[in-house]
Amino acid sequence: MMKSSKKSIALFGATGSVGSSVIDIVRADRDRFDLTVLTAASNWKKLATLALEFLPRYVVIADERYYEKLSEALSGSGIDILTGEDGLITAAQIPVDLHVASIVGIAGLLPTYKAVECGYTVALANKEALVCAGSLMMQAAQRSGATILPLDSEHNAIFQSLEFDNKSAVSKIILTASGGPFREKSREDLLNVTVAEALAHPNWDMGAKISIDSATMANKALEVAEAYHLFNQPAENIEVVIHPQSIVHSMVEYSDGSVLAQMGAPDMRTPVAYCLNWPKRHKANTDRLDFSAAFNLDFYPPDLERFRMLGIMLDILNKNSTLGVNFNAANEVAVEAFLSEKIAFVDIEHTVSKVLENTNDPQITNIEDVLTLDLETRRIAYDIIKTLNEKAA
Ligand code: NAD
Ligand code: MG
Repeated sequence: MMKSSKKSIALFGATGSVGSSVIDIVRADRDRFDLTVLTAASNWKKLATLALEFLPRYVVIADERYYEKLSEALSGSGIDILTGEDGLITAAQIPVDLHVASIVGIAGLLPTYKAVECGYTVALANKEALVCAGSLMMQAAQRSGATILPLDSEHNAIFQSLEFDNKSAVSKIILTASGGPFREKSREDLLNVTVAEALAHPNWDMGAKISIDSATMANKALEVAEAYHLFNQPAENIEVVIHPQSIVHSMVEYSDGSVLAQMGAPDMRTPVAYCLNWPKRHKANTDRLDFSAAFNLDFYPPDLERFRMLGIMLDILNKNSTLGVNFNAANEVAVEAFLSEKIAFVDIEHTVSKVLENTNDPQITNIEDVLTLDLETRRIAYDIIKTLNEKAA
């Protein structure tokens, strides 16, 4: 059989916000891209619709309860249907030209790790995987020869601004942060914010979890850890700057004082198009900056007193500790509790700091250690949230 000249893509998290940006770029360029694998957690209807449009070889519905429904919807299509975590892991190892890791949270860790172990090119949006297992992931990539292309907009900007022959001349990585919907709010104001307010990001339209992370600035904390692993920089070389317009997506400062930045409209389809076409560039239907109208770019330092998640992560990375797993697990549990209105907004930060108080520096030598620690930490976080609720009652 002749090998297709199209680039084959496995899209993990096809039904999500990043997944939709990938679908948009692929849909506009069907002659060049082929979706080989599509996965979803539970939204079988959306997965079935996408599958009938793109006819992948495999689909995975992670939640086994929806396997039957999906099978009925796809009967006669010839598409292989897998399910559960095993299904995700099997699908992650099917040979493709590009694996897109856009599942949210620790659920994305194993499939992403498997694709890296297989030596594939991996476009990585799933930052939680790197926060929890960054060293293991980067070591696995070195062993297998996998290429990790950062899909998170800031890290994609840094990747684009890195002169590969001058890596040793990098003096600083500067991550920009919009500051989220509560950028101007006082600590007092934050006590009473609602879920709807926290979900309303001023510049980006994203999934619920990352939207809340942007409001607490845990997202930037996770992104500092992501940059630490991806670009192999000590924490003191990573700086965060508030840039409310989200136009400069991040910057690299070199030893001679030059700062290279990548700019663009806040549209995830741009970093998606970059990753899908890498190492070349190709025309894509994305939002553009309009320089015919006047606009400003503002930059100022973050307020670590009002938004404490960032300081917590910087402490972790400065100590070179593996507490990123604990930070992430506590944050995932707390964000879920906030989204279902079980705790207040400020309790997210409270839960994360309490969990970290209750933890010693964990020993992590393999992915199983990460997953065990994640589960243990979740239990501690649930207990803290239960105590909070008992106090409130
Ligand atoms: P989302 O909630 O919109 O989509 C998440 C996807 O993951 C869905 O397809 C869902 O079905 C799947 N999923 C969730 N839980 C799963 C599980 N247990 N097993 C298997 N699949 C599961 O999230 P998103 O906003 O697209 O974000 C995805 C990832 O990309 C996150 O790690 C986020 O931090 C990162 N990211 C997102 C954006 C953005 O603009 N949305 C930007 C940069 C980085
Ligand atoms: Mg980002």
